[in-house]
Amino acid sequence: MAVLKLLRAPSKYLQGKGALLHFYEETKELGSSFLFICSNSGYKNCSEKLTESFKGSNCEFYFEVFKGISSTGEIERMRKIVQDRKIQVVVGVGGGSAIDTAKATAYYEKLPVVIIPTVVATDAPCTGLSVIYKDDSTFDSYLFYPKNPEAVIVDSEIIAHAPVKFLIAGMGDALGTYFEARACVRTDSPSLENGGIALSAMALCELCYKTLLKNGYQAKLACENHLVTPALEAIIEANTYLSGVGADNGGLATAHSVYNGFTALSECEEVMHGSVVAFGTITQLLLEDAPKEEIKEVMDFCHSVGLPVTLKELSVTDVSRVKIAAEKACIPGETIHNMAGDVTPDQLYDALLAADLLGQDYFK
Ligand SMILES: [Zn+2]
Repeated sequence: MAVLKLLRAPSKYLQGKGALLHFYEETKELGSSFLFICSNSGYKNCSEKLTESFKGSNCEFYFEVFKGISSTGEIERMRKIVQDRKIQVVVGVGGGSAIDTAKATAYYEKLPVVIIPTVVATDAPCTGLSVIYKDDSTFDSYLFYPKNPEAVIVDSEIIAHAPVKFLIAGMGDALGTYFEARACVRTDSPSLENGGIALSAMALCELCYKTLLKNGYQAKLACENHLVTPALEAIIEANTYLSGVGADNGGLATAHSVYNGFTALSECEEVMHGSVVAFGTITQLLLEDAPKEEIKEVMDFCHSVGLPVTLKELSVTDVSRVKIAAEKACIPGETIHNMAGDVTPDQLYDALLAADLLGQDYFK
């Protein structure tokens, strides 16, 4: 039987300056007792606005500051709070770990989940999955949920005040979206949600790339200076919705496998997900023998916003170590196998070094 086309997305997406002041109004149909699972900075930056949004309501709400990573232990602790306090809605406030803990807690307790990202660095807010890491923080697997979050609410003012490195990394993650989906379409590979790729999904991915090219540089300047501008709003939407829903329904290919491969290199521990995805995107284009103009356009973009185009910028100085990453990127089940003609570790290694050489040329 042919694979059915599938589109999944959060039921509601809200974005804008002061969006959190509307939290209660926009989520009250979900229940009357809320648990906010917050990162440290999430609590500091959001709790006041959220509390204000509940003014005049009879709802109960609790803030719980989340510690460390989204481990089984931390998820168990949150589940106990949910049961003891008879929570009806789980809310994740923060970056990737707080979001993943909230998604997992809600899933196991069969409750709706709302996501409030305080940085726009990855696809985590809008997708219907969590990324699971091993204890040594290398990539383990994806954990799939039956649905995407009930609502995602992004306050642009909070994003404008977050360190710009998160916005830049988010643009790197978003950069892969169109090219990875295009690779999946070429081979009839399924999306991340294991469905056929719909035209509408592809349209989101294309718009994601166009928005990055049009607004990336200006958005970076705005964020550096804590200004909320139309360009920043456009990039927040590209990083969060277009990239998240696009990847979920459009599929992944080489760029994300390169990231998973690089988690095996200890020297890259501090390098952000989106930075590696950006370099992985250039690598993918080389593997595809993409037109020179297209490769140049992508590299120009990376350079303009401060995304890496060389291995050195990813903290890799010993290129022989790239072999380890290439092996891990090509293990069975990796999305790199969605590429036309498939890719071997050897081919990927050569493409990674070729991408690095092109990048070095860029600085000459
Ligand atoms: Zn990603």
